[in-house]
Amino acid sequence: MVPSNTSSPATPFLQQTELTVAFIRELYGTTGFVPLHAPVFVGNEKAYLAECIDTTFVSYVGKFVERFEKAVMDYTGAKHAVACSSGTAALHMALHVGGVKPGDLVLMPALTFVATANAVRYCQADPLFIDTDRTTLGFDMAQLADYLRTGTERRNDGVYDKATQRRLGACLPVHLFGHVSRLDELVALCAEHDVTLIEDSAEAMGSFFQGRHAGTFGHVGVLSFNGNKTITTGGGGMVITDDEAVAERIRHITTTAKVAHRWEFFHDELGYNYRLTNLNAAIGVAQMEQLDRYITSKRAIAARYAEFFGNGSAQHFAEPADCQSNYWLNVILLADRTERDAFLAYTNDNGVMTRPAWTLMSKLPMYSQCPALSLEGAQWLEDRLVNIPSTPIV
Ligand SMILES: *Cc1c(COP(=O)(O)O)cnc(C)c1O
Repeated sequence: MVPSNTSSPATPFLQQTELTVAFIRELYGTTGFVPLHAPVFVGNEKAYLAECIDTTFVSYVGKFVERFEKAVMDYTGAKHAVACSSGTAALHMALHVGGVKPGDLVLMPALTFVATANAVRYCQADPLFIDTDRTTLGFDMAQLADYLRTGTERRNDGVYDKATQRRLGACLPVHLFGHVSRLDELVALCAEHDVTLIEDSAEAMGSFFQGRHAGTFGHVGVLSFNGNKTITTGGGGMVITDDEAVAERIRHITTTAKVAHRWEFFHDELGYNYRLTNLNAAIGVAQMEQLDRYITSKRAIAARYAEFFGNGSAQHFAEPADCQSNYWLNVILLADRTERDAFLAYTNDNGVMTRPAWTLMSKLPMYSQCPALSLEGAQWLEDRLVNIPSTPIV
């Protein structure tokens, strides 16, 4: 009989998890800590930052802001782009200028990062939570279509939720972990029901649906360049749109709504200090130069994970149909919440950073009173979903 060995996990599940930890260590070529998603600086970041400091253009004026916006426009195909101080600020502006009014409801998933819901609330509107499809991580399209058909009514100034008698200010899908799904159906559905489509593409820089970049299907789209996103500016975000009037108004109110004049300070509406600084944009320009390399590496890492998990107990989540994903954070699905928690404990105890999906927004104290449809799929995912290390290797 083989004596029990305390260093070797007892159950088949833990043996599998130990193999997973070994695989991730080998993938990243380290015996040390493996982060979930670290920023990578291998290009012109330092040179461009030095240029900002040498020229003293460190703040809201400077050529890197424009260059960064131009690079993102060229890459995404959007006609206009406005760089903002964060993805959350960009989302707030997209909703505010995109037409969300105080008292409105905004259709959004319950399974998302809290910033999506916060931006809705900054507009004095409330989320109406829609379920998430387990196979795409996008909206449950059947539920959404059924709701729009039977749960809403048209009035002079828009479409109203029958149950609460509140107007629908926007439909706000989130491209979770970089996976973009069914935007063709969503565009058609929103057009049919007269609801403004605004895309939270914060996680989808470098993701495409039917060959078109995420964030360019709706009236307005939003990107984030936070420290753990696919490319980073330290902190930052961007609004992308083909609507020139929307872009100009956002440009205006993110710079305190100051009317241009050589010396007078006149502000013609409530403004914000939401623009990106030249320092942050300088990093952004350098990161854009590396984006293709990052995406190539991230997709190769996803392929390695798919192969590794192909015959194990956990299931690797693959990009949905018609989507070319950036695989921002790789997703695996465990059998249930107990296994999820055991996996999270073992990996994090052993220096491989993993994390669960966010707690559903409908369970947070500030959003628990908001209207919601059935959230069965979202809860199923919350119980099973884990993100595993996804930093590009370049
Ligand atoms: C990161 C993120 C945001 C917000 O971006 P910040 O730049 O961190 O403000 C918004 N929505 C989603 C889904 C995100 O993942």
